[in-house]
Amino acid sequence: MERIKASVLLHGLVPDSMMFGEAEVSLVTTDSREVRPGCIFVAFPGERFDGHDFAAKALEEGALCVVVNHPVEGVPAEKAVLCPDSYHAMMVLGANYRSQFHPKVVGVTGSVGKTTTKQMCYAAIEGFGNTIKTEGNQNNELGLPRTMFRIGRDTEYAVVEMGMSHRGEIERLSRCARPDVGIITCIGVSHIGNLGSQENICKAKLEICAGLPEGAPLVLNGDDPFLRKAKLPEHIRPVWFSLGDESADVCALSIQQEADGMSFVLEDHEEGTFLVKIPAMGRHNVANALAAYCAATRLGLDARKVVRGIGNFEQTGMRQKVVHSKGIDVIEDCYNANPDSMKAALAMFKEYPCKRRFALLGDMLELGDLSREAHEEVGREAAESGLDTLITYGEQAKRIAVVAAAKGLTTLHANTYREAADALLKLMQPGDALLVKASRGMALEKVLELFYKEQ
Ligand code: ATP
Ligand code: MG
Repeated sequence: MERIKASVLLHGLVPDSMMFGEAEVSLVTTDSREVRPGCIFVAFPGERFDGHDFAAKALEEGALCVVVNHPVEGVPAEKAVLCPDSYHAMMVLGANYRSQFHPKVVGVTGSVGKTTTKQMCYAAIEGFGNTIKTEGNQNNELGLPRTMFRIGRDTEYAVVEMGMSHRGEIERLSRCARPDVGIITCIGVSHIGNLGSQENICKAKLEICAGLPEGAPLVLNGDDPFLRKAKLPEHIRPVWFSLGDESADVCALSIQQEADGMSFVLEDHEEGTFLVKIPAMGRHNVANALAAYCAATRLGLDARKVVRGIGNFEQTGMRQKVVHSKGIDVIEDCYNANPDSMKAALAMFKEYPCKRRFALLGDMLELGDLSREAHEEVGREAAESGLDTLITYGEQAKRIAVVAAAKGLTTLHANTYREAADALLKLMQPGDALLVKASRGMALEKVLELFYKEQ
C-alpha cells in the first residue's frame, strides 16, 4: 500500500470535522498482529475472535484510528470511526484508495471459472507491465478491498476476481474496483438458494456493469443461454466469445484435448487467427482462455503476445491438477464442485487418454432445494462418461451412485475416507486415471493422502 492521506481514505466514513489533519496512512489492516504506527485498524466481529477486543490495543500501538461497529471501552471517540458494517467500511476505504491510482483493471465474475480465468488474464497481461491480481480466492467484500490496497503508483494492470452469494454484491464490488473491462464467465446454479433462479443469477452477475465506464468492453460467454437472452445495459460494449460459433467476436475452432492440455484455433474478427495451447484440461478451460484473451486484447494489448502469455498460465491450488503417482494419473479437483464444474470435469475426463477411468466424487454443497436433483443429474452424466468404476463419498453423493448404478455403471459408496482409499488401492493399476472432485467442505484430499502414502 502507498502512503495516502487519511482524509482521502476515510472520505464518506467520517464527518469532515474528524479528519486527522494532514496525517497519512501506511496500512489498512483487519489483523491486530499487523498493527503499526500510522495504520487504520478495522475491527471485524469474527467467529472466534472479536476484533473490537483489540481496538484499544491497536491505538496504544500507534494506529491512527480504529473502525468499529459500536463505541468500545478504552477507545476515545475522536479515534473511533463508527461504521455498523465492517465490510462496508473496507469497501469504502478500498474504493477511496483505488480512486487515487490509474491501473487498467480487469474484473472477473461468473458462476464458475473466475479464479482460473483470473489466472489466465494475469498470464496474458503480466508481460506488458507491472500487474497485480487477486491472491487465491479473495473475491468478496473483504478480499477485494485488500486487493485494491496492493495497487501501487507503479501498478499498470490489476486483475480482480469478484464473487457473490447475494444480489447487490457484484455491484458494490464493481463500484469499488471500477474495472476498465469486465468478464462474465458463465451463469450456473451456485447460490441459487439465495437468488431464486438462474435469471436472477444472471442479473446479479450483470451488476458488474455498474462499475464499468461508458463504452467499456464486457466480455461475455456466447454459449451461455442466460447471457445470450439477457438485456445488456447500453453503456457497455459486449464482446462475445464462443466454442465453435463463428458469429461470435472471438471463437475457438478445432478444439483438441492433448495429454498436457488443450489446443485450438482462435479466430478473432478484429485481430486474426492464432493457434493456442494451454496447459489445462477440458473444454471449459478453452472458454476461460477465450475470456482472458478477449479482456487483454480489448484493453488494447498485442494479440500475439497475449496468446503467448496465456500459454504460460499456471493453475492454482487443487484445481484440476494432474499428479502422476506410480503410473496412475490423478486429476485432483478437490478445490470445489457444483453441478456445472462437475459436468465440465466429467466431460474432460471422458476424453482423458488412459487405460481405465475411475472417479471419486463427493457432495456438492450449498445447493439448497436443488441438491437431490443436481446430484442425480451428475449420476446420469457419470454413467455416460466412460468410467470403469465410480466411487462416491458423502450423504448427497449417494444419489449420484444410485442413479449411475441404475444406468449400469459399477459404483461403490464409501462411508469413510479410509473406505474410499481402500477401494482405490484395491482397484486401480498403473495406466489408469482417477478424477477426484467434490465441494471444498468434503476435503477429499484426505483420501488422496492415504492413497499416495499406501500406494
Ligand atoms: P469460486 O466460486 O470458488 O471462487 P471460481 O468461479 O473461482 O470458483 P474456479 O476456481 O476457477 O472457479 O474453478 C472451480 C472449478 O470449476 C474448477 O476446478 C473446474 O472444475 C471448474 N471450471 C472452471 N472453469 C469452468 C467453466 N468455464 N465452466 C465450467 N466449469 C469450470
Ligand atoms: Mg474463485
